[in-house]
Amino acid sequence: MKLSIVIPLYNEQESLAPLVEAIAKVMKTEGYSWEIIFVDDGSTDGSFDEIRSLKTLFGQIRAVRFNRNWGKAAGLSVGIAHAQGEIIVTMDADLQDDPEAIPALRAKLEEGYDLVSGWKKIRHDPASFTIPSRIWNYATSILAGVKLHDFNCGLKAYRAETAKSLEIYGERHRYLPVLAYWDGWRVAEIPVTHHERKFGRSKYGFNKFLRGFLDLLALLFLRRYLRSPLHFFGLIAMLLIGAGGLVLAWFGIQWGITGALHIRPLMLLSLGAVIVGIQFFSFGFLAEMLVRMSPHQLYYIRETIE
Ligand code: UDP
Ligand code: MG
Repeated sequence: MKLSIVIPLYNEQESLAPLVEAIAKVMKTEGYSWEIIFVDDGSTDGSFDEIRSLKTLFGQIRAVRFNRNWGKAAGLSVGIAHAQGEIIVTMDADLQDDPEAIPALRAKLEEGYDLVSGWKKIRHDPASFTIPSRIWNYATSILAGVKLHDFNCGLKAYRAETAKSLEIYGERHRYLPVLAYWDGWRVAEIPVTHHERKFGRSKYGFNKFLRGFLDLLALLFLRRYLRSPLHFFGLIAMLLIGAGGLVLAWFGIQWGITGALHIRPLMLLSLGAVIVGIQFFSFGFLAEMLVRMSPHQLYYIRETIE
């Protein structure tokens, strides 16, 4: 059984050689047949030259190079698409994830899971990072309905079929266990060792939490309404038009009986409700049209190493 290790990277030159050596050591001890798929997400620091020279030492290395920085999600998506193994492990390139955890992740998969996520139980990141991250993980597990401690750990193992079924774009790499769980895959978590960053620096700042929250709202919305957005917008539209229409009808009847039309706040409010309601219908129809448009390619590849 072959194991594919997918590693997205952006300016991680110094980490690559020790990373490959650490992986090769574990693979040798375990006797796995394996490959590494590096996805160079537009590095400007010579990371790709480093990969080229590592390839001369380790034939198991394959690589994809983007033409610019397209983000970690695109990197994971391309790497997983290229992977040939029955089991796919993803990890970060910065030596924070420990390849020693791979056999345990694999053993957990074999217990009958489709995705096993690493849990950085003891984290070596600044508190300004770990505290918001705890809150974010807690909120995600409540809203998504899947109990994990750490959704965004870079270190994860999948059955190939599961990994390849996920649509990873935008910032969705933070929610992969959620997406998998919603699609009916069996998801588990095991604690993994986490190290401090030795080289380079983190590519993400605090705003990843704010954006992460908006992404979660979008996911919850898409989950229910992706195939029928008009069910969402149409419901609001009908409520507004219904309530506004009734009140306007009442004013109309009074007008007919008394012959005098009184412009009243309630009447203006109802008129507003009807107009906004019609707007919501238009939004809904537009959204329906968007759904029917095919998604665009979100990255371009400069070169590959096979
Ligand atoms: N990464 C990437 N593209 C990006 C940003 C990050 O491929 O645009 C990679 C990065 O090189 C690393 C992994 O994603 O291998 C995780 O990034 P980082 O360590 O900066 O995140 P943190 O651990 O600080 O959350
Ligand atoms: Mg990191």
